[in-house]
Amino acid sequence: MSSIIQLLPDHVANQIAAGEVVQRPASVVKELLENAVDAKATDIKLIIKDAGKSLVQVIDNGVGMTVTDARLCFARHATSKIRQAEDLFSLGTKGFRGEALASIAAIAHMEMKTKQEQDELGTHIVIEGSKFVSQEVAVLPKGTSFAVKNLFYNIPARRNFLKSDTVEFRHVMDEFQRVALAHPNIHFSFYHNGSEMYNLPAAGYRQRIVGIMSGKTNEKLVPVNEDTDIINIQGFVCKPEFAKKNRGEQFFFVNDRFIKSGYLHHAVMAAYEGLLKDGSQPSYFLYLQVPPNTIDINIHPTKTEIKFDDESALYAILRASIKHSLGQFNVAPVLDFDRDSNLDTPYHYKDVEVGIPTIQVDGTFNPFTDDKTNQHYTKAGSGSRSGSYSSSSSSSSYSGSGSGSSSSYSGYSKRVEPTASWESLYVGLDTENPETIESSPFTFENEEVTSSLFNDDEVEQATQKTYQIHKKYIVSPIKSGMIIVDQQRAHQRILYEQFLLNMTVNQAASQQLLFPLDLFYSASEMKQIEELKPSLETTGFVFDDSKTEHLVVSGIPVNITESEVSLVIEQLLSDLQDGIPANSYSQNDTIAKSMAKSLAVKTGSYLTEKEQDNLVNGLFACKDPNISPFQKPTFITMRVEDIDKKFAL
Ligand code: ADP
Ligand code: MG
Repeated sequence: MSSIIQLLPDHVANQIAAGEVVQRPASVVKELLENAVDAKATDIKLIIKDAGKSLVQVIDNGVGMTVTDARLCFARHATSKIRQAEDLFSLGTKGFRGEALASIAAIAHMEMKTKQEQDELGTHIVIEGSKFVSQEVAVLPKGTSFAVKNLFYNIPARRNFLKSDTVEFRHVMDEFQRVALAHPNIHFSFYHNGSEMYNLPAAGYRQRIVGIMSGKTNEKLVPVNEDTDIINIQGFVCKPEFAKKNRGEQFFFVNDRFIKSGYLHHAVMAAYEGLLKDGSQPSYFLYLQVPPNTIDINIHPTKTEIKFDDESALYAILRASIKHSLGQFNVAPVLDFDRDSNLDTPYHYKDVEVGIPTIQVDGTFNPFTDDKTNQHYTKAGSGSRSGSYSSSSSSSSYSGSGSGSSSSYSGYSKRVEPTASWESLYVGLDTENPETIESSPFTFENEEVTSSLFNDDEVEQATQKTYQIHKKYIVSPIKSGMIIVDQQRAHQRILYEQFLLNMTVNQAASQQLLFPLDLFYSASEMKQIEELKPSLETTGFVFDDSKTEHLVVSGIPVNITESEVSLVIEQLLSDLQDGIPANSYSQNDTIAKSMAKSLAVKTGSYLTEKEQDNLVNGLFACKDPNISPFQKPTFITMRVEDIDKKFAL
């Protein structure tokens, strides 16, 4: 039988290797930028078209290549960066595998121009799918230019696998930012479809970080500096009050290489202990230098993990130095998250004059009549905290109580009528159990059990329909037992439906701001906001389009406050990590969900009786009151039988 094993032809091997090195346009960007850095360029220009799908070009002013090297660089395992295995332990370059160019050339149309300083003429090579198409001598400036066109043109399956331009662009942006942040001493510029995204002159770390992030970043940064035998740490962390909702601005660089490390991230978070609001994320830009022989860099080309010899020592040093910086810049004492919101005066009390308490006795009240007007009056009256009631309505309401004339209640703040579905939960409550607390508080006095169990304050409160427990749930008795409403989820549902209705059916009202808000975002974030503007405008936002480098908000939806604007937009950006939905329906849905998430009352907020009532009524007026917009239950019911069972145990 004849032998069957064959060596794969180079172009097939390269295509297979390309699968590992090149996942998307951003991978090409990374490889080409890193090659330019390794070539000691001081000026690097990145040009892309269609998020890199049709063109990725990197032009550098580095050392260039000889004719021979220009040809050889496309061969597999062709590298000038290491010669023997030991070199791996003293690595000073980004690349060393000699795979990137061979892989990229296997799956794209590629053009290279390169010239070394001392040479008169340079080399111009065209290669497509690993095949050399042409090689010419050309007049060129010093340095190298690689243009990669039509990525995956010969692997349709991979090309179809690429995400939308928005998503691919963000990946490119990420790679560009990582390389540009790692090398502030290099001038970087970046163009997408002809427009300039960045132009970053050579600078120090701080200036580079500010250049990449946004104008407002500078005041948020606190420097970190530490020099020990095993590590040198430089860089910046952000003041805790500027912590964000998402983890977008967290960067570690080890020996000028961007890396991800859950372990080191943990060290940073430990340094912020007690300074951050729940779940918020500090931005950080930390540059670590360690002896090359103490790390294992021999990692997968597309991965960004790294292994350190002495991780736990690095952890301790990093944590201590950040803690020290945060302390030194006195950022800790301004924070006080533990303030009890119960101590806050409910807002509607603040503007009300303090009056002399008056006691009201309804002389005409007869507990043995089943006049609904009486009951309604009692409930509304005892529940009302309206300051005007006692002074203005004493005479008219009493005389009117028997007749049930509606005009006699003009002194009340208007009671919101419960909606049908909510009301139905109460149906029968009053009539079937006339002695219950809710329906007739006046029968209390004769009931020894209750009066001995509760002090007067609690009896007074017993006229409430709702109770808040643990600043988290609202409990309310219903005919069959009780319901427990999750305040945050319920409010999310209400807001979500409101926003969605405004966006799809109504023209949402907008409040004009006296002084437009200037908000600063990174270029990639601005691009996302730009795409969402039409949908955001349907919620009531008004933007001033004359500025493109930052966001100018001149009008906001009526149901949000000025101070909530940046919160809403940050939450939205963080919810768009997976890209902007393609159609306007799901864009609206995402925005409505995101705004509901950022604006809903949170667990831990104290709600007044009126607010509790509005929340429960609002929930049951919703189309879909049972679940939050995030598919979590908004309330549960507990039947009396269930409670009985528990007591029977
Ligand atoms: P690696 O970077 O791992 O060595 P690459 O395939 O990325 O492998 O590049 C192969 C070789 O081509 C490099 O080692 C380098 O000698 C040369 N090269 C690539 N890009 C450039 C550039 N922009 N300027 C000068 N030489 C380059
Ligand atoms: Mg390389």
